[in-house]
Amino acid sequence: MRREFIFILLIFNSLISQNNPLKQEKNSLLDIPIILSGTYGELRSNHFHSGIDIKTKGVQGLDVYSYASGYVSRIKVSHGGYGKALYIKHPDGTTTVYAHLKKFSTKIEKIVKSKQYKRESYEIEFFPKENEISVLENEIIAFSGNTGGTSGPHLHFEVRDQNQIPINPLTNSSIYIEDNRTPLFKKLFYKSYEKNNVFNSQTELKIKKVTNSLYVSDTLKSSGKIGIGIVAFDKHNRANNSNGIFKITTSLNNQNQLKILFDSISFDKTKHINAFIDYSFFKNHKIRIQKLFIEENNPLDLYSSNINNGFITIENKKNYKYEVNIYDSNGNKSRLVVPILGVKTNEPLKLVDNHAELDYIERDKEYELEFNSARVSILKETFYSNLFLEAKFENDTLSIDKDTIPLLKPITIYFNTDRY
Ligand SMILES: [Zn+2]
Repeated sequence: MRREFIFILLIFNSLISQNNPLKQEKNSLLDIPIILSGTYGELRSNHFHSGIDIKTKGVQGLDVYSYASGYVSRIKVSHGGYGKALYIKHPDGTTTVYAHLKKFSTKIEKIVKSKQYKRESYEIEFFPKENEISVLENEIIAFSGNTGGTSGPHLHFEVRDQNQIPINPLTNSSIYIEDNRTPLFKKLFYKSYEKNNVFNSQTELKIKKVTNSLYVSDTLKSSGKIGIGIVAFDKHNRANNSNGIFKITTSLNNQNQLKILFDSISFDKTKHINAFIDYSFFKNHKIRIQKLFIEENNPLDLYSSNINNGFITIENKKNYKYEVNIYDSNGNKSRLVVPILGVKTNEPLKLVDNHAELDYIERDKEYELEFNSARVSILKETFYSNLFLEAKFENDTLSIDKDTIPLLKPITIYFNTDRY
């Protein structure tokens, strides 16, 4: 009986590999195991990474295979950005994107070259029709490269849904990476969000690694409304570079508080990463603190099941247990336990000295700041939050605060040219 069962299994296995021989032998996109130098949703400058970056062993020219059958729906060649990029539309309405290519397959390269000659331009973009360039699953469509804005040879691979919104390839495709390493907590911060305490800064709390998946911090002693932030990474097997994490959940006294998921981020919203991280802290210290709370005017839709928008209100002399769980897309998880004790600090608000020179800007109001020969126009909802802004005109030079304040809209400056 047992022997028959094994026999049937063997037949079944060989049937699968006969039906789909290539799929069994390789990872669909390249002939080498997929090791990532970048994950989806990873924190980059002014955007969340929209795909995965696959290492190509430091070389160019590796065969790139189509993830699934479909047709080439877009080709773009540019000096910057994605360099040489190919878009394939699949029957289910999704699109896969292959970027930073060295060149396209012979049949596609021919079409691209003729377009380039015709338009007399290296940089081109065109959208072939459905029946023009069809491709099969596992067909060689291009060769990996280092074109466009890259810091080394790799393949940028993206999956877009029916609405052209980039989604996480590791959770929305069959691309598999070997990874059983747990994500890592690097740093922990908190900041007071008590009303009017606008000059409060981040306070770092020490964290200790207890096991590979458990961390404990020093006791957080504060009172009133606070927001907690973390610095966290993930590492995969066979690579030592730091990648982004996939999911964050928080809880207060075992009650779920906030869930953050990096699974679908539209191009319209990706710039609001500057509302997800503490932008001014990043500008000053080059460290991206991921805020585990949602401030007003934050348009990102990474969040779900939230209580108090992730903020914590600490009462004097009370004890709390706050927990943060971080996950990678393979389900590996690490936990950080933060003991909290309510302690009245009676700290005076840290107001700056030259307070009088600052303009208090409420984010939902419009402002016109007048100077001798210039005018600064600030539209409603230019900033993510209310703030003090330092704007001055000295020795023919207009300066408006520092570049550490994230903007939602441009600020317009008008100069009076009568004097010149
Ligand atoms: Zn990339």
